[in-house]
Amino acid sequence: MTTVNVIGAGLAGSEAAYQLAERNIKVNLYEMRPVKQTPAHHTDKFAELVCSNSLRGNALTNGVGVLKEEMRRLDSLVMKAADAASVPAGGALAVDRHEFSGFITDTLRNHPNITVYNEEIHSVPTGPTIVATGPLTTETLSKSIQELTGQDHLYFYDAAAPIVEKDSINMDKVYLKSRYDKGEAAYLNCPMTEEEFDRFYNAILEAEVVPLKEFEKEIYFEGCMPFEEMAKRGRKTLLFGPMKPVGLEDPKTGKRPFAVVQLRQDDAAGTLYNIVGFQTHLKWGAQKEILQLIPGLENVEIVRYGVMHRNTFINSPTNLEPTYQFKGKDDLFLAGQMTGVEGYVESAASGLIAGINAAKLASGLQPIVFPPSTMIGAMAHYITHTNAKNFQPMNANFGLLPPLEKRIKDKKERYEMLAHKALDSLDQFKVTL
Ligand code: FAD
Repeated sequence: MTTVNVIGAGLAGSEAAYQLAERNIKVNLYEMRPVKQTPAHHTDKFAELVCSNSLRGNALTNGVGVLKEEMRRLDSLVMKAADAASVPAGGALAVDRHEFSGFITDTLRNHPNITVYNEEIHSVPTGPTIVATGPLTTETLSKSIQELTGQDHLYFYDAAAPIVEKDSINMDKVYLKSRYDKGEAAYLNCPMTEEEFDRFYNAILEAEVVPLKEFEKEIYFEGCMPFEEMAKRGRKTLLFGPMKPVGLEDPKTGKRPFAVVQLRQDDAAGTLYNIVGFQTHLKWGAQKEILQLIPGLENVEIVRYGVMHRNTFINSPTNLEPTYQFKGKDDLFLAGQMTGVEGYVESAASGLIAGINAAKLASGLQPIVFPPSTMIGAMAHYITHTNAKNFQPMNANFGLLPPLEKRIKDKKERYEMLAHKALDSLDQFKVTL
């Protein structure tokens, strides 16, 4: 009988191991802690939450809330543990972190189909394997993954600009144009007067940043400058950098604005846009306040905040199938943050798909692609189909789902409708599993 190796008992690896074991597949689960710790983990428990104890929104008017509900319907171990260990947190699902990881550790260690090995794995093994070693994958294993992906397709830092929903941009204030009208008009441009720029600039100087962790300090040496850092170097740095207005005359007036913020399409469906050159590690609250000072973005919905942190991830559009199989190596699956999904729940969700598919393969069946009309399938679709050139990790959000046939203006109503459609799709698909 086939045994599947799962490397890393974090959020993704724990979920994957459980899905395999529950389908009667034998699992060898390799976790290096406590023999070796990562710079962010502190315990010997599986699925340790390295930072916040919140798994974010729980309601169906929230992208990650829909993902959670889909995972519950797919018998997710991570969701069982989270619901059992929940603590009061308003609309969010927060957990007692010790109870949460204790629940997962006990379930997996006592499962008759799972054998746990506490050891570091240095290279991708042969035979059916799920690699789920997370954003802080060890150096030797990273090198081995890089040999598979190619030098240019494994990243060690995530320095991303915020991504916003197109529907939340005020199109009356922005205009479509490429600099000097070169090529097709591809950017949405938010024009600023000098007064608007100064208000924006002063707000940046006063905004709070997230301090980098000791092991993340080298990010700056990678040549990624956050926009708040550029602002600190002087008023002109942004005006000669990402907010440069030359060649971006407003077609309505024919005049060049004092400054311009450009947005570039982020997904194939054209529902998401990223803010060009605005990689940042401002606190999330500050990011929202500052972006809402940009003309056209007053009511902007941010689906993914800008981040600058250590993160090992592959270029999934080039290397991964939506089944989470590595392209050209059917029995190798990747899961978790290293596939370019972002967040605790998203990582677990990818582990759930990888686990189901590795079980199918081990049973002589074809792996399956979850429909992109479900949130769990939309995440898999996004990371494998988005533009490979500008690939950045992504949270669960409504912009990933196919738009509704009819435009609904009220945001809450629109989200509820999308959520119900996603859950109906999942229920229909589940019967084929
Ligand atoms: P992990 O949960 O990290 O699991 C990977 C496992 O693999 C670990 O247990 C590790 O010990 C093991 N491992 C690594 N290398 C090897 C090896 N060579 N051999 C054997 N075992 C190995 N997301 C949020 O939603 N909220 C947050 O607050 C949040 N904070 C974060 C803070 C930091 C510092 C970082 C780095 C990430 C944070 N994230 C957060 C992002 C992400 O959700 C978490 O990192 C999440 O744990 C990713 O799940 P994973 O399963 O991919 O990796």
